[in-house]
Amino acid sequence: MKKALITGVTGQDGAYLSKLLLEKGYEVIGLTRSYAAGNLYKLEYLGIQDSITILECDLLDFSNILNVITKNMPDEIYNLSAQSSVGSSFDQPIGTFQYNTTSVLNILESIKLVNKNIKFYQASSSEMYGKVKDLPISEDTPFHPLSPYAVSKASAHWLTINYRESYSMFTCCGILFNHESFLRSKNFFIKKIIKDSIDIYFGKKDILKVGNIEIKRDFGYSPKYIEAMYSMMQQETPEDFVICSGESVSLKEIIFYVFDKLKIEHEKLVIDDNLYRPTEIYDIYGSNKKAKEKLKWNYDNSFIEVLDMLIEEELINYEK
Ligand code: NDP
Repeated sequence: MKKALITGVTGQDGAYLSKLLLEKGYEVIGLTRSYAAGNLYKLEYLGIQDSITILECDLLDFSNILNVITKNMPDEIYNLSAQSSVGSSFDQPIGTFQYNTTSVLNILESIKLVNKNIKFYQASSSEMYGKVKDLPISEDTPFHPLSPYAVSKASAHWLTINYRESYSMFTCCGILFNHESFLRSKNFFIKKIIKDSIDIYFGKKDILKVGNIEIKRDFGYSPKYIEAMYSMMQQETPEDFVICSGESVSLKEIIFYVFDKLKIEHEKLVIDDNLYRPTEIYDIYGSNKKAKEKLKWNYDNSFIEVLDMLIEEELINYEK
C-alpha cells in the first residue's frame, strides 16, 4: 500500500486530494497546524475524516516535520499548506512570505536528510506570472509576481526546482490557476459571490459588495485539477506543469451570470473602491497543452458549467 502525506489537508484541495488517493488505495496522512474542532469540516463533507490519519505539525519547526517524515516514511508528499489568499498577503506580507517559503524549505531539507526517494509535490500558483505580456501563459513564461503571496510562491517554486537539480530528488510543481468548488473557503471570490447572492435570493442580505470586477481570470474546478497533481507524481521524470482551463472570464460576467440565474436585479451590485488591491493582474489565462499531452489530463469544462454545479451544490447545502 502506498503512503501519501498531505500538508494543508483541511483545505479545499487537501480534502479532494485525500479522497482521490484513498480511492486509489493509498494510506493517507494529513497534516494540520492545529487539530481544532471544526477545522475538519471539508473532510467530513466528503465523508473521509475517519479514513485518514490527521497529525498536528508546525511546518515552520524543522524538527517537527523532520520527525513526522522519519516516523511515517511516506512515498509521496503533497505540499498544499500555505497562507493562500492574495488579498491577505498584502495585510500579512511577512507572515505569508515566511510561512510559504520556510515550510517548503523545511520539508525539502527533511526529505534530503531522511530519504531522497520520497517524491515531493509543490502547490505553485499562476499568481507567480503576474504582469504578463504574452498570453496564454505556458511553463516557459517568465515570472513577474505582483503580491507578497505571489513572491512567496515564486520563491518556493524555485526552491523545489533547486532541490531537484542539486540532489536529483523527485520534486515537481503544479502551477495551478484559480480552481473552485463547494469546499472553497468563504474569503475567496467565487465562493463569496455565490454565497452572498444566495443570501440576497433568500432575503438575508441586501447587496453584494465587491472591488475591481473588470479583471479577468482563468477559473477551473478543483476536483479535476487534483487529478493533475496525482498524475504529475506518477511520471517517470519530475517536471512542472501549468494546470488551467485555457480561457479567462471577467469577474463582472461571473457576477451577472449568478445574478441572472437567481433572478437578482443588477442594482444589488455595489462597487467599493476600498476593496481594490494595491496591484492587480488584469487578464491572465494559461495553456494546458503540456498537461493534456504528457499527463493525459482531461479537462474541457467551461467555467459557466462549473458555476452551474457550484450554485446547485450551494443551494442544496444552504440550510444545513
Ligand atoms: P486552502 O486555503 O483551502 O488550504 C490551505 C491550508 O493551509 C489550510 O487549510 C490551512 O490548514 C493551511 N495553512 C497554513 N498556514 C496558513 C495560514 N497562514 N492561513 C491559512 N491557512 C494556512 O488552500 P487550497 O486548498 O485552495 O490550495 C492549496 C494550495 O494550492 C495552497 O498552497 C494554495 O496557495 C495553492 N493554490 C491554490 C489555488 C486555488 O485556486 N485554490 C491556485 C494556485 C495555487 P491548517 O489550518 O489545518 O493547517
